[in-house]
Amino acid sequence: MPVRDRKSAEWVQVFRGSGPTDAYLLRDWLERNGVRATVRGESLMSLRGDVPIMEAWPTVWVPPADRDRAEALITEFHGPSLVHPAWQCPKCGEENAPTFGSCWSCGTDSPHLG
Ligand SMILES: [Zn+2]
Repeated sequence: MPVRDRKSAEWVQVFRGSGPTDAYLLRDWLERNGVRATVRGESLMSLRGDVPIMEAWPTVWVPPADRDRAEALITEFHGPSLVHPAWQCPKCGEENAPTFGSCWSCGTDSPHLG
């Protein structure tokens, strides 16, 4: 098997977040399952006003060889959200992904715990 060019520029985008945090959640999920993944676009988050909102959310990229595996994991990742929707922090009001055990913003425990 030929060795592929490992430059990250050749990685493929497999996910675009619908918020500022879910790309990071997905990256962590992929890495826990053995897929190298990276989040891009976070630098855009620091821009104000000029960037269309859909352009601003971070995206998740994986090596081409891991794409199929990543896409399967993404499907799995999104499965639980059908049962446990995103929750709003009772303290600061930020929306948190269903897999978050505590608020990404202020650390308050999820109301779904315990
Ligand atoms: Zn909070």
